[in-house]
Formats: sequence, structure tokens, C-alpha cells
Amino acid sequence: MNEEKLRFIDEYRNKELLLKLIKKLKREIDNPIKIMEVCGTHTISISKFGIRRLLKGKVYLTSGPGCPVCVTPNEDIDWIIELCRKFKEKICLTVFGDIMRVPGSNSSLFIEKAKGANIRIVYSPIEAIEIAKKRKDLKIVFFGIGFETTAPSIAISLIEAKKNKLENFYLYSAHKLIPPALDALLSLGEIKLNGFILPGHVSTIIGSNPYRPILKKYGLAGVIAGFEPLDIIQALLILNELIKNKIYDVKIQYSRSVKPEGNEKAKKIMNNVFKECNSIWRGLGEIPNSGLELREEYNDMNAKLHFDINIPPKYENPACKCGEVLRGIIYPYECPLFAKACTPNSPIGPCMVSSEGACAAWYTYEDWKKYKEMMKNE
Ligand code: SF4
Repeated sequence: MNEEKLRFIDEYRNKELLLKLIKKLKREIDNPIKIMEVCGTHTISISKFGIRRLLKGKVYLTSGPGCPVCVTPNEDIDWIIELCRKFKEKICLTVFGDIMRVPGSNSSLFIEKAKGANIRIVYSPIEAIEIAKKRKDLKIVFFGIGFETTAPSIAISLIEAKKNKLENFYLYSAHKLIPPALDALLSLGEIKLNGFILPGHVSTIIGSNPYRPILKKYGLAGVIAGFEPLDIIQALLILNELIKNKIYDVKIQYSRSVKPEGNEKAKKIMNNVFKECNSIWRGLGEIPNSGLELREEYNDMNAKLHFDINIPPKYENPACKCGEVLRGIIYPYECPLFAKACTPNSPIGPCMVSSEGACAAWYTYEDWKKYKEMMKNE
């Protein structure tokens, strides 16, 4: 099958073709392989279309640190909560909706809003800029989370704010970069993998080149995949070929969106506004050069510099296994809280809160009791 020939969503979900390719894949795999899908959108697709179960015994798929809400640590959430508490009347916090219910050390933004904090859910940072233009009486703070995918649009909003001489707009940057996180994860040596399904959206911006040295260093294969079931199976077919032939390199399956060099314009905008910094990841701790901080030219919009916030040491529920889930060393159902104390209606950890979280995907789509039984008999 040639990816270029498929043009419409229906074609990427064609059942007959999908089953045919799954059969082919199973036939071609000699020894079972373990693959990590890095992106939360892939996790959803894999669970939603039953890919994990269809391939069991041949391909073991585990999720990695690719959900931006899940990897945002308590330190950032606590800081933002304290900001809402300390400057209650003076600020309006703007956020993406998924972060609202993620518990910090002792509260969540959802609880703080119920207590009267001025928090608005927005769909893009440009909406936050519009609020800043209208509400000059308030300081508008945008809680910027996400990977290389969202950073360029946030950079554009800051350029826009500067152009409009907005003096009441601030960014709290908790942005993260995927390649250093993969390097850090592999350096722990906790998980034995054969390769990665690499994120499509992130790679649209950064291209395929940044993954190459990491894959070479750890002797792994990687394929950048689209998000439909046929994309994923096709990526696995390519991965299997690379693994069989011991080719430790990156290939692009998602060629309708990703070029090896990425999107030069978006990268330039991002680099004009942000610079790399060390960053704390849930489950992985502090990773050098894995975050994005505002450049000095944007100091006047940097919430971390403008607001004087002190937070007490963080607290994490010791029973929550989100860190292990994000490092791919356990499947969500192996957390003792999964589907008991922790469900999408009463989540304990971010992996159950976020729509891209591995625990939420397993709870919503996987026949996890059956999968658990199947794994026991391995
Ligand atoms: S089930 Fe809940 S507590 Fe356990 S790892 Fe998942 S989100 Fe965290």
C-alpha cells in the first residue's frame, strides 16, 4: 500500500485493508517486538481501534511521555494555583481545558475556580490575547503547556502581544521538548524496547532529523506515523523491517505532513521567542534542555519573573503510578488504583484526567480485563 495514494479519512480506516495489513504484519514478525508510542493521540487511536489486542503476541505497544497534560509536574500546577490564590482579584488565568482537573499537591484549578478564582478555558493563546485587549483592568496569564506542536502558535501570540503593546499579558511557560525526554527515558535503562512510533504533530514542526542521534545511541528504530489505524499498521510494518535489518534510524510514514527538516518557518518563530531550558517532567524528573523558556526580550511578559510566588514542597499520592505509566514500565491496569479509586469521573492522576492520557484511553476503549488475563497466560 502506498500512503500517498490514500487521500481521505475513510480510506485510512478501511477495514478490509486494515485486516489484510495486520495479517501481513503478523506473518512478517519473527520474534515479538516491543514498541513505544510516544504521542497521546497515537495512544487513543491504538486503543480506540483495538490495535493492541489485534497484535498481541507479536507487537507489544506501550505508551510513553507524549501527553502534555500528563507530564506537567505538580510543581507547575502548584505555582499556578498559588498565583490564583495570591492575586485572586487582580488576574485572569487562561488555560487549555484538560489541565483544569489535574490534581496538584493540594488542589486543582477546577477546585480553585469553584472557590472563586478567575479562570477561563481557551482553545488558543490568541483568545487569551483578545481577553487581554478587552480587560485592561486585569493581568491576563496564559498557562502554556505542550510540546513543539503548540509552542509556535504561543510564540505568535507573544509577538502579537508585543506588537499591540499589551502591558497586561503574561505567559507561564511549561513547554517541553520531546527528543531530550526520549534520551532521558532510554538512559534510565528501565525498559527494553525495539523501537518507537514517533509523534506526527511534533515531527511536523521539528522533522525527523533530531531523533536520529538518539536512535543510533540506543540501537533502536523509529517511524513517524500519522494517526489513523492504517497509518499505525503501516508504521509498524516499516518498523519491523528496520528492526529485522538492524537499521537504527528514523523513517517517515506520515509524509503527507512531515518533512525531514520539519517546518522551518515555525521553528524560526519558536526560536525567536523561546530558548531551551532545563525542565521538570512528571515521572522523569529534571531533564537538561528539555523545556522552553521565554527569551530576555520577552521578560516583561514572563509570569515567572513578574509574580512573586512561593510554593511549599510538592506532595504526590504515593499509590499513583502515573510516573511508571509515563515511562512505559507498567500498563495502566497495573496501577492498584486503576478503575477502582481512579476513574475518569474521579481521577487521581493526570493520566486518567487528560483526554490523551494512557489511563483514560485504556479505561475508555480497551477490554483491559481480558488483556490482563491474556498477559497472565503469556
Ligand atoms: S490509574 Fe490513576 S493513579 Fe493510577 S497511574 Fe493511572 S492516573 Fe495515575
